[in-house]
Amino acid sequence: MDTEEFRVRGKEMVDYICTYMNTLRTRRVTPSVEPGYLRAALPAEAPQHPESWDDVMSDVENKIMPGVTHWQHPRFHAYFPSGNGYPSILGDMLSAGIGCIGFSWAASPACTELEIIMLDWMGKAIGLPPAFLALEEGSKGGGVIEGSASESVLVSMLAARAASIKRLKHQFPTVDEGLLLSKLIAYCSKEAHSCVEKAAMICFVKLRILQPDDHGCLRGDILKESMQEDEEAGLVPFFVSTTLGTTSCCSFDNLPEIGPVVRKFPCVWLHIDAAYAGSSFICPEHKYNLAGVEYADSFNTNPNKFMLTSFDCSLLWVTNRYLLTSALVVDPLYLQHCYDHTAIDYRHWGVPLSRRFRSLKLWFMLRSYGISGLQKYVRRHCELAKYFENLVKKDERFEVCNNVKLGLVCFRLVGGPDETPEQEDELNKKLLTNINASGKIHMVPASVQDKFVIRFCVVHQHATREDVEIAWDIISDFATELLEGPDKERDLNEERARRNRAALAHKRSFFVRMVSDPKIYNPAINKTPPPVPTSPCTPPPMAPTTPDTPSDAGSVQLVPSTPKQASWISWPLALFFQSVDHDANDLPLRFRHLDTMVRLKSPNHGRRGSSPCASPERRAQSPH
Ligand code: PLP
Repeated sequence: MDTEEFRVRGKEMVDYICTYMNTLRTRRVTPSVEPGYLRAALPAEAPQHPESWDDVMSDVENKIMPGVTHWQHPRFHAYFPSGNGYPSILGDMLSAGIGCIGFSWAASPACTELEIIMLDWMGKAIGLPPAFLALEEGSKGGGVIEGSASESVLVSMLAARAASIKRLKHQFPTVDEGLLLSKLIAYCSKEAHSCVEKAAMICFVKLRILQPDDHGCLRGDILKESMQEDEEAGLVPFFVSTTLGTTSCCSFDNLPEIGPVVRKFPCVWLHIDAAYAGSSFICPEHKYNLAGVEYADSFNTNPNKFMLTSFDCSLLWVTNRYLLTSALVVDPLYLQHCYDHTAIDYRHWGVPLSRRFRSLKLWFMLRSYGISGLQKYVRRHCELAKYFENLVKKDERFEVCNNVKLGLVCFRLVGGPDETPEQEDELNKKLLTNINASGKIHMVPASVQDKFVIRFCVVHQHATREDVEIAWDIISDFATELLEGPDKERDLNEERARRNRAALAHKRSFFVRMVSDPKIYNPAINKTPPPVPTSPCTPPPMAPTTPDTPSDAGSVQLVPSTPKQASWISWPLALFFQSVDHDANDLPLRFRHLDTMVRLKSPNHGRRGSSPCASPERRAQSPH
């Protein structure tokens, strides 16, 4: 394709996108295809010779589109919004056209400098303290665009891990880093996104997953107790991941309580994941949810969720950029330049070396909408969620299950007085399955306070009251059909549901991947009671050792001795020890990968060797 053809085809593509957007309502919101549908429609090999552009575009419409889930459809109410504001699409187009790879300031100065400025603009707009801003006098902080919230959480944890290991190594110079690593433990709430667990897996550290309160909010006291227990048990708390706007029910952890607890422990990094809710802080009336941010070391939010910006655009700020970059720095000669001591080189701020000119799309968005335009968008979504909440509340067959603060409403059918919680869950699963199968609207479930709930998220950029009413009418009709329909119809549905159980289970698991409750993607957790003391032994100590001293790294005796609260520990070796109990081959593939949460086992269970119990004297030598 030469430049002249690109000029023509580019305009055609913009036309195609505009027509797509304008006619979306006429399409089914979710596709009705089976896995492998595309393989049957496309050749097994790439074409040997060039094909005409018209043929390619015709295949887009006839072969690709039938398998697309239309996230921009006005009847799409699943997950969180996926931004596609036109200015950001054009920004992405320009970024692709420029095609620079901004891994260092020198590799493309504008790419780096615009990113620094955009992160400061956004940081100020959402109300982050000056310590997070790069261009603030005397600040060591700054922001970066990562590819996803998961990456933001990961690099924050990597930075915290490096800082902790460095501190411990300083204290215990002869102790091997592997042993130091085995003592680190991170914390999050059961409502935290599963990306925290994934980050812990990658960092090879233990993660204690704590029970939130009845509103899905992590509180300071349970965190404090857990951290103290773990510290007494010889572990080293190093990272706390909190969430503002959880995935399942948009709850907010209590930062004003958590912050002071974290401050009591040396060198513990406090992260805030506000992937969805962060953009709402551009509105003054939502800023109260940010209280306690001054305790945080890092903060992330995704404008590609709730600020109309096209994916990928996850913003991460830190208060000490040197802790981040020193954890990730590699500096081969061919990447060095003469300004690398004064300029920011973003290659040290994340996992990849190469990076696109992503700040362009943010710049286009902020300038095209202005803060006022973006506030208007956020406010409309919040108002519509409240409108939907009122519709639910007016219908006594239903209940609302979350505190509706932003654009997400969790609701469910209330079962009859004789129905068990399991039957109520079944009823709601049936309702959601029937609605989604119809293709009229699309929603996903979540587990809120151990109940199966349906999430209704205001997603469409230009959503209106009428859209909410249409969705509610559909939900209400399906509920009537389910609750009052003729028995024959119900039997038929049940038969259909029974026959399709395998397929539906697959689809449901596919839906719930986004929803954070570990129980929902890992049924084993259901069976996990609060951890109980498994041994009178205290865990292995962190006594200074020589390199020849046999270490207890990898021991499974790491259970807190007197746990009072329900919590779960995810730790890197769980996967291996788990297979002692189960025949791993019997587990569904999905769980074989995800089943990393185990109840801590007794000292002689699932271990290759035995580890001597630590004596009180040895414990006293621990770094605490
Ligand atoms: N954190 C929260 C609170 C989320 O809601 C999500 C996704 O919805 C994520 C993290 C993961 O986001 P990403 O897909 O950008 O990694």
